[in-house]
Amino acid sequence: MTRKALITGITGQDGAYLAKLLLNKGYEVHGMVRRASTESFERIARLRDRLTLHQADLLDQLSLITLVREVRPQEVYNLAAQSFVPTSWLQPLLTSEFTALGVTRLLEAVRLVDPKIRFYQASSSEMFGKVRQEPQNEQTPFWPRSPYGVAKVYGHWITVNYRESYSIFACSGIMFNHESPLRGKEFVTRKVTDAVARIKLGVQDKLKLGNLDAMRDWGFAGDYVQAMWMMLQQQQPDDYVVATGQKHSVRDLVKLAFGRADLDWHDYVQSDPKLLRPAEINTLRGDASKARKVLGWEPTVTFPELVRMMVDADLERVGRELADQSNSAQ
Ligand code: GDP
Repeated sequence: MTRKALITGITGQDGAYLAKLLLNKGYEVHGMVRRASTESFERIARLRDRLTLHQADLLDQLSLITLVREVRPQEVYNLAAQSFVPTSWLQPLLTSEFTALGVTRLLEAVRLVDPKIRFYQASSSEMFGKVRQEPQNEQTPFWPRSPYGVAKVYGHWITVNYRESYSIFACSGIMFNHESPLRGKEFVTRKVTDAVARIKLGVQDKLKLGNLDAMRDWGFAGDYVQAMWMMLQQQQPDDYVVATGQKHSVRDLVKLAFGRADLDWHDYVQSDPKLLRPAEINTLRGDASKARKVLGWEPTVTFPELVRMMVDADLERVGRELADQSNSAQ
């Protein structure tokens, strides 16, 4: 029998990678999308014919029940959220509705329709915030530093609670930052690699950044969706940290990315105090020993490889866009 999976947030970076992974494994893949006046399905454009998309919304309980009832998946992956940290200070309540309460709404839909559905919750290293120990593992206490982080802590614990209260096969993946050429351009990695490509090709002069000293444990999104799937294939539901175990500063990122295009970052990067955050997370580094041991998961892309992959993809894309523009102007 063909296995069915439902992915919320299918139009995002992880949604696109996970959809591809599941299709390759022979799943029937369903995705939940929010209605918008203009569609933004670029990341899944090439998979579109092989996916079934449904309109529903984490803010609307009944729409979720109807969706889960209609699809009757064996696996639900909750990747949808308001996921950008700075926006969470501007819209803390909306962030909580999606990122915190949305998890309960989806779990309620699973519980009502079929509590045997396996559930994956996309939790985040942002929950560790002002870190209590280094590296962080599944036992490290949380101290979130943004409304986003606080909402993710709620999402994590409600997932654990539905496992303990109703024996739902619910897993929380505590994912450290994971990037790719499909990362949103507001996140620092993609903001930098996109700027490098635009500067190299002569359509941008400067790049404004905030805190260059922040350190993150950055991995490749393609590796991280593999861990999500692995969690749902185990005998028992559990929580896992997913990380590379290596950390780098934003400055390291900038140096590598500009270097890849033979540019000296000092000539282009400016600091902008407006991009500093009201409360910052200075450093994150994960200990994924449990995922390695129990799931057999391994990251396959190093940080320098990741930066190269992203710069090269942006150089190619910006180059193509400029060529298209000049062709259509002729
Ligand atoms: P986050 O870890 O989920 O907040 O992922 P981001 O990619 O948004 O930010 C990672 C780190 O880069 C944070 O510590 C930011 O303060 C830092 N950073 C420095 N300059 C920038 C910038 O211009 N944009 C973003 N998004 N982050 C920046």
